[in-house]
Amino acid sequence: MRRLFIAGNWKMNKDLAGSVELATALKAEVGDRTDLDIGVFPPYVYVPAVAEALRGSRIIVGAQNLHPEPNGAFTAEIAGPMIRDVGATHVLIGHSERRQLFGETDAGVNAKLKAALGCGLKPIVCVGETLDQRQAGDMEAVVGEQLNGALAALAADPLGDLVVAYEPVWAIGTGVTATPEQAQDAHAFIRGVLADRCGAEFAEATRIQYGGSVKPNNAAELLGQADIDGALVGGASLEADSFLGIIRHKEA
Ligand code: PEP
Repeated sequence: MRRLFIAGNWKMNKDLAGSVELATALKAEVGDRTDLDIGVFPPYVYVPAVAEALRGSRIIVGAQNLHPEPNGAFTAEIAGPMIRDVGATHVLIGHSERRQLFGETDAGVNAKLKAALGCGLKPIVCVGETLDQRQAGDMEAVVGEQLNGALAALAADPLGDLVVAYEPVWAIGTGVTATPEQAQDAHAFIRGVLADRCGAEFAEATRIQYGGSVKPNNAAELLGQADIDGALVGGASLEADSFLGIIRHKEA
């Protein structure tokens, strides 16, 4: 049985006080939930304060990126061991904004994934097609290439707790959500790719999050799909009420 994993990607938002305030509110409301996993991904510089605010709760703290090398002359970059050092246990890899705005490639995602696994960070690898690609009927080709590229030369064994986030680029921050059927189709496809690469047992155990304009009012339907095992939430994770509304989607 795959436990739901609801994660909030704060991107380059919030200040220190606002980060701690949001983390503190989440801890008070859902910090001891054991029926699902909850995670927040603040900007790097707020990770230590957020980890401190969440200490004693079950809420996961992660970073939004990492550099593939463990150290070296890479001005302004942050390495996996540094992220671990300040309290993060998870890391996002290959978010579409990284791919589109910062030129991240599948090979780069693969290198970052290996680096994350190498230092004990649990990865969430993001994949997803653009609107043009979907309209051209290329969703499976694009997502398959991204996933195979990310997992190149990796076997099921070290991948362990891998999470994949399916995030159609056309649904991110646009208010347009994939229909539950579109999302389910893509998730089933991704699970099939995982099964081909790493075996049926691994594919069955691996969680696949949906991301793209998830809100309290559409979470239940999306998260009710057979192959949707959680959500990666951008905008709606920035306020306690809306993030809690997604976490509590079953109670609505
Ligand atoms: C995201 O960027 O990962 C995301 C899903 O954003 P939003 O929820 O705002 O669409």
